[in-house]
Amino acid sequence: MDIDTAAAQRAYELDRRHVFHSWSAQDLIDPMVISAAQGSYVWDGHGNKLLDFSSQLVYTNIGHQHPRVTAAIAAQAATLCTVAPSHVNDARSEAARLIAARTPGMLDKIFFTNGGADANEHAVRMARLHTGRHKVLSAYRSYHGGTELAVNITGDPRRWPSDTGTAGTIHFFPPYLYRSAFHASTEEDESQRALEHLEQVIRLEGPDTIAAIMVESIPGTAGIYLPPPGYLQGVRELATQFGIVFIADEVMAGFGRSGKWFAVEHFDVVPDLLTFAKGVTSGYVPLGGVAISPEIAATFGKRVYPGGLTYSGHPLACAAAVATIEAMEDEHIVENAANIGETVIGPALQGFASRHRAVGEVRGTGVFWAIEMVKDRRTREPLAAYGGSSPEMTQLITEAKSRGLLVFANFNRIHVVPPCNISAEDARLGLAILDGVLDLADGFAA
Ligand code: PLP
Repeated sequence: MDIDTAAAQRAYELDRRHVFHSWSAQDLIDPMVISAAQGSYVWDGHGNKLLDFSSQLVYTNIGHQHPRVTAAIAAQAATLCTVAPSHVNDARSEAARLIAARTPGMLDKIFFTNGGADANEHAVRMARLHTGRHKVLSAYRSYHGGTELAVNITGDPRRWPSDTGTAGTIHFFPPYLYRSAFHASTEEDESQRALEHLEQVIRLEGPDTIAAIMVESIPGTAGIYLPPPGYLQGVRELATQFGIVFIADEVMAGFGRSGKWFAVEHFDVVPDLLTFAKGVTSGYVPLGGVAISPEIAATFGKRVYPGGLTYSGHPLACAAAVATIEAMEDEHIVENAANIGETVIGPALQGFASRHRAVGEVRGTGVFWAIEMVKDRRTREPLAAYGGSSPEMTQLITEAKSRGLLVFANFNRIHVVPPCNISAEDARLGLAILDGVLDLADGFAA
């Protein structure tokens, strides 16, 4: 790939002067220029080629620059760039049909947003108006978005600086066997005790005050924790029993990432509301939304839904969604994600867990995996503290990059989250690089 390094240098300098970056101390970062991208690869501003095992922020589910989607965006731009949400648009109608058809159960009305946080905000608003209740229960070790309510629902350190404590947001412990809050040693016990705990929280908070339980079907940035057997079904049953709306956040887990269209399918669970973003357009144009059950949609049949966004169902985004979903279907991309997880990533990561003493646990499904790094396997002391980083983790990420691999890391974890359509060959290449990086990590472990 031909990279204009002078243009990249100018972009870098302007960025440092004028761009204010998310989640960062502005003077302490050194962001990488990405000048080009194709499929599972990106090129930095110096012309270095990197295998993108991060899918950026875990959203390029069909890889970079898929020609079918770039063509659909261009065609929509040439035809009709925008119409207000109150009008009908063919790209929006078709996107809604395609998304609804893939949701579990009958979530056949779609409210479009610009991304994941606002999808969750609107899902909660719908739940509150539907139930006439206010509180929202959500899990620790979760992320639901960076806006006021969504960040308060979030159950990880990104909430701490913005915690207003006034929004009726309550957190509970999710199952996490490796660091069990329930002193469990089997998945069955973990699942059962986590459900008993959730029921206690509901009873002690007052069931009649709780509008919604929001969970990531498979928590993503917080650590890729697969719910143990029976857990999500149990949450569904508790929600039904107490008349609480069950919201599944599929912003990261959805659209093929877990090896299914939506991760709830692994657990045979139908939520009342399902939120999505990221993979719906592979991130090519921002889009999110809420898929709504008929019962909740009926609440707003004769009653006004008091919410909206200027760009709800933006035609460029919806054209990108239609092309993304069609490409995923025609090219069997969801099946590819499942197969790569089962035959390539899963076995390789199990091998890492047995060979590398710095690997505490590996877990995941599809192209959605986490490697939990530890200083000591016996004590499970993490290689970076909860909510922080460490020189060791920084060194591993830098090393991976210098060997041509872009990884997603959070606290003491390295996530293996390549595009859903990555080839087996590229997946093996990335895993081989990672294997070498873990040799270095072993030097940090007891
Ligand atoms: N929910 C989950 C599970 C996410 O992973 C994210 C983003 O990473 C969000 C919500 C927020 O989405 P957005 O950044 O598009 O607002």
